[in-house]
Amino acid sequence: MSQEARSVVIGAKAVNHIGIAVRSVEDHRKFYEQTLGATFEGTEEVPDQKVRVGFFIIGAPGHGVRLELLEPTSDESPIAKFLEKRGEGLHHIAYTVSDIQRRLDALKDSGLRLIDETPRDGAHHNRIAFLHPKSSKGVLTELCEPKA
Ligand code: ZN
Repeated sequence: MSQEARSVVIGAKAVNHIGIAVRSVEDHRKFYEQTLGATFEGTEEVPDQKVRVGFFIIGAPGHGVRLELLEPTSDESPIAKFLEKRGEGLHHIAYTVSDIQRRLDALKDSGLRLIDETPRDGAHHNRIAFLHPKSSKGVLTELCEPKA
């Protein structure tokens, strides 16, 4: 294995989606659809995160970048706490990876802080895990592996 290959731990294949914290997906649809020109794909509740997620695609379906608007469904949601502290805005960037568990193990071995040491179920049938923002240069970073 080459030096480069060994040093690439995450091996991000694409930007999977960009997560944006909002108080209401419905209230923001007009901006994303009519002002920005995104295509609304629908919403999905993720009980584990206590959020309702609104999906928007920028660019051609299947080739564009997805925006995920994250609306808390409970005051206990991490998104509710984020909104309280920081207000609405950019929350995280998610990258598509393969072998997510192996990536997490390697990151942990290298001394990076993780929020999730094992992947959990995310929206759109993905297995997801978050790195700690202190270990990812101030940007909350999500790894995302589509389920086979
Ligand atoms: Zn996400």
